[in-house]
Amino acid sequence: MSFVQSLAKRLFPASWMTAMEEESRTWAMRCPCGVYTSIWEMGGIRYKASGQPHRYGRCRECGKTFWGQLEHRADLLSRE
Ligand SMILES: [Zn+2]
Repeated sequence: MSFVQSLAKRLFPASWMTAMEEESRTWAMRCPCGVYTSIWEMGGIRYKASGQPHRYGRCRECGKTFWGQLEHRADLLSRE
């Protein structure tokens, strides 16, 4: 868990944290190698937000840092 995530865990009730984690897992960015990595897996949180901004992220597959667009991908929701 990243610093941001553990800080949120301290600040918010557990029920919020679960909701934030679930939503953060539905926001993902696609690496040039073709693999999607969720904001949660990158150590971030995205909750009650709209729009598809561009961000820097790190691919969970190849480990490279890349500039990509955040996409709302509810189908990626997983509990690995
Ligand atoms: Zn990659």
